[in-house]
Amino acid sequence: MKITYLGTASSEAWPALFCDCEACMLARKCGGKNIRTRSQTLIGESLLIDFPPDTNYHVQKLGLDLKKIESLIITHSHHDHFFPYDICMRNAGFAEGIRPFKLSVYGNRTVEEKFYEAASIFSDVDEFIEFHQISPFDQFRTGDGYTVTALAADHNQPEESLIYIIQKNGQSVLYAHDTGIFPEITWKYLEGKYFDFVSLDCTALSRDWRKGHMGFRAVDEVTERMKAMRCISHDTILVLNHFAHYEDYTHDKICKEVENKNYCVAYDGCQFVF
Ligand SMILES: [Zn+2]
Ligand SMILES: [Zn+2]
Ligand SMILES: [Zn+2]
Repeated sequence: MKITYLGTASSEAWPALFCDCEACMLARKCGGKNIRTRSQTLIGESLLIDFPPDTNYHVQKLGLDLKKIESLIITHSHHDHFFPYDICMRNAGFAEGIRPFKLSVYGNRTVEEKFYEAASIFSDVDEFIEFHQISPFDQFRTGDGYTVTALAADHNQPEESLIYIIQKNGQSVLYAHDTGIFPEITWKYLEGKYFDFVSLDCTALSRDWRKGHMGFRAVDEVTERMKAMRCISHDTILVLNHFAHYEDYTHDKICKEVENKNYCVAYDGCQFVF
């Protein structure tokens, strides 16, 4: 599989809009991997996870080719993961060459409501986009051959925020953004599953958050439990992602913090092939 991280910040981006904190000043000064946009990840060339307001930036600067996207899975309705007005630009009035197939969008009930609220200002979205409402523990196969299982996240209740298992050709990915330490019902589902790749929320960095989002300590707890359950091994690629501007953190400082552990630190544009 090939996984490309396009946006790796939390909701306010990093440097954050309007913010002059030390972490944001450092990001502006150092540039490069310190410039983080809102959450979006590409699996292969055709399966996209989340559609933030920075999607247009990802097209223009990171080579995201939206014409190739057949399936779009949405984790939850927070604006840094879901900007439905731009998804609705896939219609005859604003885009040419989109007739060969409908884009399949998968999301929970809250996401569906927000999608149709946005779609109502366009005349022909249904002709080009098909929305599929999903709930925790639903499993579906995308047109491009991925088996996707939605799991319950610990985030933004009562919305049923979702994390995902994505499988193809015998390989298995756990994509866990945004979430705190997983709900017990999700742990139960993970029993007996093995992952080649796990992407974990680390929004809070050194703050000890375990509900809603995670920091380093909660991520360690999750990976320890997954190891004990044999859901991961030494061969599993573990990625930390979705960071908030905090203290004097930079990309290098996050890497240094986890250098003795088996984690990779995501940045905008980074790619994993396995
Ligand atoms: Zn988020
Ligand atoms: Zn800041
Ligand atoms: Zn969120």
